[in-house]
Amino acid sequence: IERAFRVCAMPVGSGGLFAIHFKDQSETRRIDRMRADFIANASHELRTPLASIAGFIETLRGPARNDEKARDNFLQIMQAQTERMARLIDDLLSLSRIEMKPYMRSQGEIDIGEVVAGVVESLGHLARESGVEIVFDRPASPMLAPGSRDELIQVFENLLENACKYGQAGGRIDITMAHSRAGPSPEVAVTVRDHGQGIAEEHIPRITERFYRVETGRAPKGTGLGLAIVKHILTRHEGRLTVKSKPGEGAAFTVHLPAG
Ligand code: ADP
Repeated sequence: IERAFRVCAMPVGSGGLFAIHFKDQSETRRIDRMRADFIANASHELRTPLASIAGFIETLRGPARNDEKARDNFLQIMQAQTERMARLIDDLLSLSRIEMKPYMRSQGEIDIGEVVAGVVESLGHLARESGVEIVFDRPASPMLAPGSRDELIQVFENLLENACKYGQAGGRIDITMAHSRAGPSPEVAVTVRDHGQGIAEEHIPRITERFYRVETGRAPKGTGLGLAIVKHILTRHEGRLTVKSKPGEGAAFTVHLPAG
């Protein structure tokens, strides 16, 4: 990688001292480009439903003014588009809150099993609506890791929401926990496995990118930001996400967190 360094010499005080600042310009340029791409993508994602709503309003005020059936249909579509915009704004706010807020560890170590159990309970209604059963094999003794409790709750919420969305109706979601190792360091690993449509190999490296969604025949509602948020949080925890999947055979997402 080509690196361009800028050297600025600035007098410090009156003693003839000089401070030299090295700035890695290629890194600054990369971050600027990422920020510009993000704003362009976010604006595009918000503009699409907005353009559709504006189009329907125009039709309702013009040609469809007296057509009751068309009106009901258009209002329904407009409501769905409004909900989509609300979801996008919520996810964008979550992402920016996490990016702005400094990483703060909760006091003491966190029992990851307890966090997962809380999320399973709070998403019970979603599982019922999606027709899936969540089976959590919670270990008898605590599995501890340092971290931010709120952020880890968000990680498991996003993964379980996806498992409900993309899992198979009538199927199960299995959650298992184990101690693992990343080289010499001990980890806590939590796997969320569904039995739904799965993900083709070529998409797996890209699903944690912001706004990346796999185009399939059956594409449930989503923004493409959930896994980007998961990845961001895990990076702050010095953890990682691994994904195993085959189309038609479901997907297994494993969260690895450094243990203590
Ligand atoms: P979305 O809001 O679209 O669900 P995510 O960032 O959470 O956004 O996920 C990105 C994409 O990864 C999804 O659009 C979907 O294509 C794929 N994906 C995520 N979780 C699963 C899963 N459990 N099974 C199959 N595909 C998944």
